Amino acid sequence: MIDPAQVLLEGPATATGAQAMAYARARGARRLEAVDAFIAELWAICRRAGYDPAVVFAQFCDETGAGTSPAWTARLNPGGIGITDGGDEGIAFRSGEDAARAMLVHLSAYVRGYDPALWRYIALDPRYVKPLELGYGATVRRLADLGGGAWASNPRYAAQIAGHLAALRATAAAPASAMPPEPAVARAVAPEGIVWIGTPNFHPRPASVEPEAIVFHVTDDLAFANVRDWFRRPESGASSHFVVGQDGAIAQFVSTRDAAWTNGVIREPREDLPWLREAVRRCAPPGGANLNDYTVTIECIGKPGLPFPQEQIASVIALARYLLARYPAIRPVRDRFLRHSDIDAVSRSYCPGPTFPLGQVIAACGG
Ligand SMILES: [Zn+2]
Repeated sequence: MIDPAQVLLEGPATATGAQAMAYARARGARRLEAVDAFIAELWAICRRAGYDPAVVFAQFCDETGAGTSPAWTARLNPGGIGITDGGDEGIAFRSGEDAARAMLVHLSAYVRGYDPALWRYIALDPRYVKPLELGYGATVRRLADLGGGAWASNPRYAAQIAGHLAALRATAAAPASAMPPEPAVARAVAPEGIVWIGTPNFHPRPASVEPEAIVFHVTDDLAFANVRDWFRRPESGASSHFVVGQDGAIAQFVSTRDAAWTNGVIREPREDLPWLREAVRRCAPPGGANLNDYTVTIECIGKPGLPFPQEQIASVIALARYLLARYPAIRPVRDRFLRHSDIDAVSRSYCPGPTFPLGQVIAACGG
């Protein structure tokens, strides 16, 4: 048994995302794809912001019957947000990722009052100000503090969550085949032989922002020297993290910790890719972010419509696998592996073009 008075909301993860996925399955969770997305995003943002995702997930399990309640299956409401003794506001989320962000934002109001690490996501939670108005802002440090009226009037609330937490920590991780790849920061190894070139054309990513998607491009120029000179010239205002030659050679111009200047222009973006739709919203003027803040870019030397040699695609896949291992928010799914034309359908409709084998790249990365 775990004592809720001993469980801190802040700190490193005390269980893994793989254990959470196995626990959800063992408890018969529904909408498993959304559950997995919820878990992956929860572990990623908690690691960045300094909360223990295992405790938040245990709270999710208590609130949703481990992903079986109507509020979860119909509306992806992960934490009883807007559901009180007085009624149900019908709050809904459109993806597991958004559900994770909103739940952590809501919890952060109790733990930190205002958390600058989560400011991007505050708008996702329509009930964010409620705990602040009620005087619960920054009053919760331990799981026990969440009961007794702060989050729930049920006196057993914290103990029930502690029960899920104990069982979660004792759960064996799900077999790898049942899950999306786990982030493996320590094991991320870059492909050998990357040649560093560098360029002045980049800016640092905003604080605590890591890449969330990969964007693939074609250079529309078969001469590497032309591309290199263009990216190194300050007047071009253009760059890319990586450029892959037709022989598979990889050159790097910008550190993935920084933002390259590749796909900052958004014109008629695809609206059927959830991550892109949400990222475009974050970039809306005035004061919006820059899409380059969230992406890593890979340029392939080539011409739109011409075939990409297998040596080149093999290097693209090796790079993508490295980025997947290094950055937990990137996953091998269509809305995190983007064509430049998904972002700018007006002036970059050719990039990287119909012959770029995006499906093969995603499949080779486990998607
Ligand atoms: Zn492009």
